[in-house]
Amino acid sequence: MARQILLEHISEPGIDTFEVYRKKGGYSAVEKALKTMSPEQVVEEVKTSGLRGRGGAGFPTGMKWSFLAKPEGVPRYLVCNADESEPGTFKDRYLMTRKPHILIEGMIVSSYALGANTSYIYVRGEMMPQIRILERAIAEAKANGFLGKNILGSGYDLEIYVHPGGGAYICGEETALLESLEGKRGNPRIKPPFPAVAGLYNRPTVVNNVESIAATVPIINDGGAEYAKLGIGRSTGTKLISAGGNVAKPGVYEIELGLPVEEFIYSDEYCGGIANGKRLKAVVAGGSSVPILPANLILKTIEGEARLMSYESLAEGGFQSGTMMGSGGFIAFDEDQCIVRNTWNFTRFYHHESCGQCSPCREGTGWMDKVLYNIEHGLGKYSDIDLLVNVAKNIEGNTICPLGDAAAWPVASAIRHFRDEFEWHVSNPDESMTRNFGLAHY
Ligand code: NAD
Ligand code: SF4
Repeated sequence: MARQILLEHISEPGIDTFEVYRKKGGYSAVEKALKTMSPEQVVEEVKTSGLRGRGGAGFPTGMKWSFLAKPEGVPRYLVCNADESEPGTFKDRYLMTRKPHILIEGMIVSSYALGANTSYIYVRGEMMPQIRILERAIAEAKANGFLGKNILGSGYDLEIYVHPGGGAYICGEETALLESLEGKRGNPRIKPPFPAVAGLYNRPTVVNNVESIAATVPIINDGGAEYAKLGIGRSTGTKLISAGGNVAKPGVYEIELGLPVEEFIYSDEYCGGIANGKRLKAVVAGGSSVPILPANLILKTIEGEARLMSYESLAEGGFQSGTMMGSGGFIAFDEDQCIVRNTWNFTRFYHHESCGQCSPCREGTGWMDKVLYNIEHGLGKYSDIDLLVNVAKNIEGNTICPLGDAAAWPVASAIRHFRDEFEWHVSNPDESMTRNFGLAHY
């Protein structure tokens, strides 16, 4: 069994309660940090750990923390991004449901490190059960002296508030999230300035993902250097992966970074292969925002090296033959799945969720949605395929926030790797919506 850090004791009855979590060693990171470490030492440990943002961007967490502006007498904030909405991604929801106190403990440690006395957990609006679970966990932590005034006699004060989102995907983008938290429409802001300089209420703010904040608990307990021993190269530690699509055993798995993709898919410890004995056709490895890869390229790089579950290995080959770790939303497609239909499905989602601020995204996602609809429904032309490539190219890099890129990459990569399927839809309009696709040459 692979080493479990975040998911340790996850199946223990009552681990969602303060009592059981504490009995299993919970809140020892808070005790260690507040009683024996300065905030700067906590930041150093996180830097040493090499932890990278688990929301999707993989930005070094310790570096982000050290960018936080610290003007005298100005409050600063920690905001936890629990707006998990990336299609194929459900790891944060799982952690918050089953082990909410690890997030609260991480919030206390991280807020202390950043000098924040008020922190927020912004939870996706649809996750009402998780909102209630977190509110209960906060109340329990407070009743036991881990929140509020003068925590553990350290002189440090902290309040944590849970804030429900309104259900818009774009509110997971950190600046849209801050706008929403301020009570406004969730429109992304132009960066820079980054939130570390001007964030919530224009104050210095760190926005971190649920999993990143939870990971500070083992980092403080065991030390950053111990954490950094796990993983491979600059991909240190463990990562929660949401496995879905056609795998035999969908679910949330904690892997040590560096695990071969092949082992993740086929080993019984993880996905257990492809359901119903079918063959793997393609994978979206990091949530819908990352390029899709055919089976041969997700298992091996173009150089024939085994592909690993790490930030670097998944990106090997750039966008020609590689992809990204993203949020770890691992969606497997079996031999029967239609890439055109799936691409249209993703694009419909981005079209619907675009906030409309910038025209390449607002108009481009709409165009791609319409053209893909036509191709999928047997109404497409050969020239539509290049039109899609062209529209995607014109969106990429030309928008305020990454939603534009996220909409463009799945389309561009699907055509790059599965152009023949798009062409088949155009040349077989009558069968376009019904055909199951065999593996052909993949
Ligand atoms: P980003 O690379 O723009 O930023 C990453 C983080 O680093 C941000 O917090 C940013 O403020 C900080 N940062 C970067 N440069 C900085 C600087 N110079 N100074 C201070 N701070 C700096 O990416 P992003 O927009 O945060 O995230 C994009 C990713 O989010 C996508 O790749 C996608 O995988 C992922 N995503 C995840 C979900 C989900 O549900 N988990 C949903 C949508 C997208
Ligand atoms: Fe809004 Fe799309 Fe522009 Fe992002 S890229 S700001 S979602 S219009």
